[in-house]
Order: sequence, then C-alpha cells, then structure tokens
Amino acid sequence: MTDKGVTLGELKERPVTDLHGVSSRKAEMLEKIEVRSVLDLITVYPRRYIDRSKQTTITDLTVGEEGMVLVAVSKVSIRRMRNRRSLVEVTVKDETGRMKLVFFNQPWRSKQLTEDKELIIFGRLDLYQGNKQMTNPLVDLVGDRTGRIVAVYPQSEVAGVQSWDLDALVAEALRRVMKVRGFEDPVPKEIRKSYRLVDRSTAFLQIHRPGSMQEVAEARRRLVFDELLRIQLELVQRKVQLERSAKGISHNVSGFLTTAFLEQLPYILTDAQKRVIDEISTDLKKDLPMHRLLQGDVGSGKTVVAVTALLSAVQGGHQGAFMAPTEVLAEQHYLGISDLLQNMNVEDDSTLLGQRPLRVELLTSSASSNQRKLIVEKLANGGVDIVVGTHALIQDEISFSSLGVVVIDEQHRFGVDQRAALREKQSDGRAPDVLVMTATPIPRTAAMTVYGDLDVSILDEMPLGRTSIETFWIKEEQAAWDLIRGEVKEGRQAYVVCPLIDESDSLNVRSAEETFTRLSEEVFSDLRVELLHGRIKPNEKNKVMEKFRRGETDILIATTVIEVGVDVPNATVMVVLDAYRFGIAQLHQLRGRVGRGSSPSTCFLVGEAGTVVGEERLKALVQTTDGFELAEVDLELRGEGTIMADRQKGRNDLRLASLRRDREWVEIAREVATDIVSEDPDLNSHIGLRNEISTVLQESDGEYLLKS
Ligand code: ADP
Ligand code: MG
Repeated sequence: MTDKGVTLGELKERPVTDLHGVSSRKAEMLEKIEVRSVLDLITVYPRRYIDRSKQTTITDLTVGEEGMVLVAVSKVSIRRMRNRRSLVEVTVKDETGRMKLVFFNQPWRSKQLTEDKELIIFGRLDLYQGNKQMTNPLVDLVGDRTGRIVAVYPQSEVAGVQSWDLDALVAEALRRVMKVRGFEDPVPKEIRKSYRLVDRSTAFLQIHRPGSMQEVAEARRRLVFDELLRIQLELVQRKVQLERSAKGISHNVSGFLTTAFLEQLPYILTDAQKRVIDEISTDLKKDLPMHRLLQGDVGSGKTVVAVTALLSAVQGGHQGAFMAPTEVLAEQHYLGISDLLQNMNVEDDSTLLGQRPLRVELLTSSASSNQRKLIVEKLANGGVDIVVGTHALIQDEISFSSLGVVVIDEQHRFGVDQRAALREKQSDGRAPDVLVMTATPIPRTAAMTVYGDLDVSILDEMPLGRTSIETFWIKEEQAAWDLIRGEVKEGRQAYVVCPLIDESDSLNVRSAEETFTRLSEEVFSDLRVELLHGRIKPNEKNKVMEKFRRGETDILIATTVIEVGVDVPNATVMVVLDAYRFGIAQLHQLRGRVGRGSSPSTCFLVGEAGTVVGEERLKALVQTTDGFELAEVDLELRGEGTIMADRQKGRNDLRLASLRRDREWVEIAREVATDIVSEDPDLNSHIGLRNEISTVLQESDGEYLLKS
C-alpha cells in the first residue's frame, strides 16, 4: 500500500547544491534565508499569488480604483524632501500608455527598479496634476514567468534572493521529485478521503505552480493539515506515553466529603462548574494519573472546582496539595480554602465519633523553622489533609504520606520540571492526579497545541449576580482620581497600577515610587495610600497586602505583582497608568482584581495608545470583559508569536498553518492524531508518519510545546 515515493526525510538529506543551477555562491545566498536542504526549499511557500486574468492595461485602469498592470520601467529618479524623507519617482509604460509610480521613504526602490525591468504593479490609480499616478503600489518583479497564476515568493534584499530565483529552484526541485517517484504520502487514503485532502504530490505542485486560486486553496488545506497533524501526533503520543508509563490512584469521587461540601455552598454551581467537576471526576476515578488544564476566566469560580478535586483525594484517605505561584497568593488561597472548608469533617474510624475535623495547613518559605518542621512532619505522617503552599512544597525533604491530588494555580509560572517533581512525591510510585489552573484564557485550538499534553476543561460561564465592571480609556488621570475619591468616601478601596518600578530616563513611564510620592503627598494626601512592588521583601509585602485586605489602606499603588489572584472584594476601582505598555491578557488580569464584591466597579486605562495595535488593544478591553473574546483579539493582533512565546518564528514546523486562521484544522488534526495513536501508540503501522515527525519536527519542538 505504500507508494514508495520520495519522503520528506530524504529531501532533508539532500543539500540544495544537488540541484542544477545552484552554484556555491547561490547556496550561500540561500543559506542566509535558512534554506539548506531541498526540503527547506520546497517549504518556502509563496507569499502570495498574482492572478494574471485580473491584469489590465494602463489605458484601461479606472481612476480611483485598484488594478493590476504589467509594465516596464522607463525612468527612475530619487530626491530628498524637505522633511528628509526620500521620494522615488518611477515612470513606467506598457503598450497602451505611461504612468508614474511614487514611493515615499523607500529609497531602495531606486536600486530595485532599474530601466527596462518588467514589473507587475498593484495599486490605486490617481490623477495628480492631470497625470496618472500610483502611490506606494505593491510591486512584484516577475521576470519572464508565464502562466495564469504567478507565485510570488518572499524576497530577501539582504540575501539577494529574488522571487524568480526561488521560483526557478523550486520548479527544478519538484521536477526532479516527480520524475523519480513523486512524493510518498504518509497519510492513509481513508483519512485523506474523509477530509477531502489532495495527495501530497498534488499539494506541493499546486502550492507552487497552481492553475487557479482554487488549486492553491486545495494545496494549502493539505499542507496545513500535515503540519498540524505532525505536531498533534507528537503531542498525543507523549500524552499517551505518560499515561501508559504511570500508574495513578483511583479516587472515590462520590464520597461523603465532596457531597457535603457541595451541599453547603451558599450558591448553586454554574452549569460550567458542574460540567468541569464531572470531567475531573471521570479522570480521578481512573487509575491513570490525571493531567488536566482548567481554563477559567477571572471570577469564573475555579476555586470550588479545585477544592472538590482535593476533597476527592481526602475522602479516600489521601492528601491534597494546592500550589500557588507566590507567597502572597498562597496565603490568600489558604485563607480562602480554609474558609470554604470550615466545619468540614473527615470520616475517621480511629476516632471515638468516627469523624474528625478536616486539617488544612499553609506552608511557605516565610514559615518559622519550627512551624515548618511541624508541618513537614504532619505531611509525612498524614496529619495534614490539604496543604497550600508555593514551590516550597516540592523541595526534596518534603514527603507526603499519600499525595492524591495536586492543584497548580497559574500554570504559566510553573515549569515542566516542577510538575515532574510533584509527581514523584507519592511514596508508592503511583502518580498523583494533577490539575493545572489558569486564568489566562487562550483560544481553545491554541490550547490544544500549546498545552497539547494536557486535557483541557473550560469554565466558560460566569456565576450569576456578578457585578459589572465598566471600563474607560482616558487620556488624563483626573476622572480616575475623582472617582477614587467618591468610592473611598463610601468606604471602598482602589488600586493604581504602574508599569515599572523606577523611572527609566528614555521611556516616559511613571514609576510606582514616583506615583506613590505624588499621590500620597499631593493628590490623596488625606487618604491612606500604600506601595507594593516586586522589590519589597516578602514579609513587608504580606503586611501591605494584609492591611489592604483588612481595609486599613484606601489606595494601593502597585506594579503587576497584583496581577493574579489578589482578591479584595471591597476594592472597586482599578486604574492602570500607561496602559498601552501592557498586553491584553495582563490588562484583563489586572481588571479582574475589581468587580469581586457586590458593588459595581470601574477600570480606567490611562494614557495614549502608543501604537495602532495599542489602540486596538485598549479598545477591545473597553468593549468586552469576556476573557476568551479578548484572547481571540490578542491572537488576531499579535499572531502565533504570542503563544509560541519566545520561539523564533519560522523555526518551528508551522510554516503555512496559523493557529488563528486554521482553528478548524487544529481540531481535525487533534482528532485524527488521537484516533491513530489510540490504535497504534508507537505508529508501527504508520512508519511514514513516524519518520516524518522525527525528521521534520525540530527536536526542540515537542519539548517546547510542552513547556509553558
Ligand atoms: P477564580 O479563581 O476562577 O477567579 P474564584 O474561585 O475565586 O474565581 O471565585 C470568585 C468568586 O465567585 C468567589 O467569591 C466565589 O465564592 C464565587 N463563586 C464561585 N462559584 C460561584 C457560583 N456558582 N455562584 C456564585 N458565586 C460563585
Ligand atoms: Mg483564583
């Protein structure tokens, strides 16, 4: 059934110099755009296509409308304008007439567009002093290529690689492949058929030399699918391997404790909470370790879900651990969780009444050595049911009598290593179930890729009776100060967030310290103002937070240290200075610090937009408080780069696929990968795919994707 065609692996082995027409000089040029192998070459995809059937002539262009013409350069001149910008004027002609092209601030055009060169121009025709002219049109140097659809490749001025060079080389590479055996297609026919995917040879030919735009679309679908399938296969395989190699605990999910806990809650669970608790329970029951991501916007009620999971462990005689990213948050979660679990009893046959109170403890690095010793002892002998803490929980000397469920809050601050360390805490080698929580919503399909080794649950519904947060983008601060005054008079509190701790000369950024001085000595000299930032010692930080929590501070000036988890329901105003300096997710998290009590809240984003994208960001925040909607906007504005984080773009295998545009295909690829791997975990009957994953995916790809 294998067609024994050429594999991508083989093409990766072949240097471009194997092709006719690649001299060592050309190879050097290609090296600069990271094209070394024939595979690199044929996966340089066209940036766009010119549809020549849409081509017209200079005479037939309509003033005020866009059009495409093939022209030849007849004259080029460059001059400097008074504002020192450059102006390149190019006169071009075709058989029917002449017109002028004007390029502002693109001095290199005078070198690129030399006399007699043939160009395809796309732009809007204007009349300037009665003459036909296009300003800053798109220009493609097409050489003498024929065909109705012409592919335009990414050109590199620096490397000296032109579109037609690539076009010719790719054509040569494809000709060679097709002459021998064509491409091997590692994707089973049935799968291709059910998703209407063309075969691989067709895909490569059509993406580079399409006969129509329809063919481009078909080719793209197939190649996008391949890219996504490789990644999903890798991720699903790792996930399955993790599951296979680990033995977990089968928890009792419908015991007395969880039932009693859910019954005594002062509110009704949202449907989303019920659904997610079910999803988690299903995992907990299995004797495979859970490895699940819970995404839920700020205020969506993740804590109750997490506590229910922890209690499932406790009612089976195991322990639960809750890890927070900072001491402040650990303490806060400890208070919150203790509060939720007040008066809860655990069944215990060794006691007289057959019951004893549930024991919750806090362990952070600011505990005294005596306290610490005591808690460490109790963790080891089962004297603690639920422990809340920071990374301090996974230090080596800590062992648990039986760690059953671990909840990790705010995933992005924990690495893979820490997760692994936690798994090793269970003495009998059975891995605890792990629930990772994040309040940073990312679009579902992106989550499938970035957190591909986790199952994903989503709390996509807010509890009823949430107070609204109104958001304003203001250029001047005064309105914010006025509102703060009014709110404080009513006994409420406010946050003022500044981007950086100290004044940086070149950036005109208000520092927290400077803002603190200004507000505490001038604007609000009669109110209680405090300062909190990352350079304050943990102990001090806790004190400042504690005072604010108790309502002994009116206004808290802070940096983003308060970004996550801080929960003071009495705070109703959030002011973010120089808001354009923050990303969407961060602003959304900051805003989530208010609107947590019964009073309506307000968020002010202060300052200029900075950039066009900055403006879009701020507008989006004013428009919606829905974290998932904002995540989509963010992805739209910043592209994959955000999610693939500091990874250089283009180094991974996603050359054509976009997590944003190809959402539907991410889901399909995930499904197909899951089906394949569940039947054939080691891909023994999908050797082609298996080889391709190891040759095409960079070694670091999988690793990277699992890091978060
Ligand atoms: P998250 O951690 O997701 O930001 P929390 O778990 O801190 O949210 O919950 C935010 C607030 O909502 C808490 O005060 C909690 O008591 C409350 N809450 C949670 N679930 C519900 C619900 N179903 N109905 C009403 N209030 C709820
Ligand atoms: Mg929370």
